[in-house]
This record gives sequence, C-alpha cells and structure tokens, in this order.
Amino acid sequence: MSSGSSNPKLVVDRDPGHLAPKFAAAVAAAITECNSAAGGNLNAMVYEGYRSQELQALYYARGRTVIPPKGTVTNAPTNQYSWHGYGLAVDVVHAQKFWEPPGGEAWFARVAAIFKAHGCKWGGDWTKPDTPHFQWGRCMASPSDAARLLLANGGVAAVWKAVGAD
Ligand SMILES: [Zn+2]
Repeated sequence: MSSGSSNPKLVVDRDPGHLAPKFAAAVAAAITECNSAAGGNLNAMVYEGYRSQELQALYYARGRTVIPPKGTVTNAPTNQYSWHGYGLAVDVVHAQKFWEPPGGEAWFARVAAIFKAHGCKWGGDWTKPDTPHFQWGRCMASPSDAARLLLANGGVAAVWKAVGAD
C-alpha cells in the first residue's frame, strides 16, 4: 500500500500471478539471475507488472493535465496500448535505490543483458528509451489493433496464446 491510495485499482500491481505464465517464469528466472553472485548481485526487483486502466489513465495525465511533472511519463492513452495492460510487461528497478541504481544506466544495461537472455525485449533499446521496461520477446513494440480485438473477443488468455506466453 505504498502508493497511498485506498482504491485497489490505483495500487501498483507486482503480482506475478497477473502476468502471462511463460512471461512470469522468464521474469522470475531473470530476477533470480540478476540477484545471484554470478549475475553481479544487482539487487533488482519488479516494481510494476500488470497495469489497470485506472492506473494507466493516472500515468497518462502526468505531464499533460497533471503538472508537475513537466514531461510525460507514458505514450499509452489506455492500458490496451501498453503490454502492461495485458500482463506482458514489467518495470524493473533497484530494490533500495529504485530508479537511481548504483552505476546508473550501466546497472540497467546489466539487468537488460540478463532479461534478454531469458527471452525478453528491453525498452532501453527504443528510440525514446524506457530503461526499466521489459516485455515478452514475441510481442511487437506496442499492442496492435489486432491485439486489442483479440483482447476484446477472447480476453488476455487469447492474447497470451497468440504470442506463445500461455
Ligand atoms: Zn513499462
């Protein structure tokens, strides 16, 4: 309950049970490796996984209708435009220093190398980098109209099956 909200839909969700099964397994294996001696004891944690429409709307307002911040924090107007809304993306941060890990960008790059080895794509590779962001490797950069249609007709299970994450 660290977000200070009493609305459960506005609380950051890091429940692996809300992620696609194969993606959840890849994330768990990657985090374990990041935090092992062999992985460099990076002290990484999942900050956020599945994101509700209510929370996505709150993030989208930041830097637009809610100022500060001066800059925007997401380009996805609804959770159907982000893989977080499908349980196919997570944001990974340092367990104590959160978005300011020791080593800065180099820390995120080390985490990314491990996540990539477990089949995930990294937001740090994008034109507008999102370094804490990882998503299932078989997903496109962002959800298409076809993904939204599949979600509407078959729920997340249908999307997970289509990208081989079920
Ligand atoms: Zn993200």
